[in-house]
Amino acid sequence: MRCPTCGGFDDKVVDSRQSEDGTSIRRRRACLTCNQRFTTFERLEEVPLMVVKRSGTREPFDHAKVVAGLEAATKARPVDAAQLEDLASAVEESLRLLGGDVPSNEVGRAVLERLRDLDVVAAVRFASVYKEFDDLADFERELTELTHSALTKATAPKQH
Ligand SMILES: [Zn+2]
Repeated sequence: MRCPTCGGFDDKVVDSRQSEDGTSIRRRRACLTCNQRFTTFERLEEVPLMVVKRSGTREPFDHAKVVAGLEAATKARPVDAAQLEDLASAVEESLRLLGGDVPSNEVGRAVLERLRDLDVVAAVRFASVYKEFDDLADFERELTELTHSALTKATAPKQH
């Protein structure tokens, strides 16, 4: 990085720290010629992963939507939020490796594969509805109803 003071090209990193949300790294550098300090930022170049729905609509991969679907599927299960975040990120990474646009059912399948390793019950919940829907918002709605009725049944007083 060229020194803003003397134009020298040699510097060393004296401090490096990640932003709170982990999306950028700030580096404090010192010019080896004039010893001037300056700061650079490094961040990911965002190339959105595109998902193609059955209807042909393309939309960017929505991490939050995947997490919301997972939350619905893992309701009352021993799975924590960080695990769901990791799962959604792992799914996104694996889909990126395929290259190009990804059909929405591939997203569901990739989620299911990983969810199975995490919690079988949640995976069954997820699997029972994901084939029917094209959109994770629909999964989420359906799963919420599903888990709600399951919980109601489990806690309902016995009928005589
Ligand atoms: Zn300099």
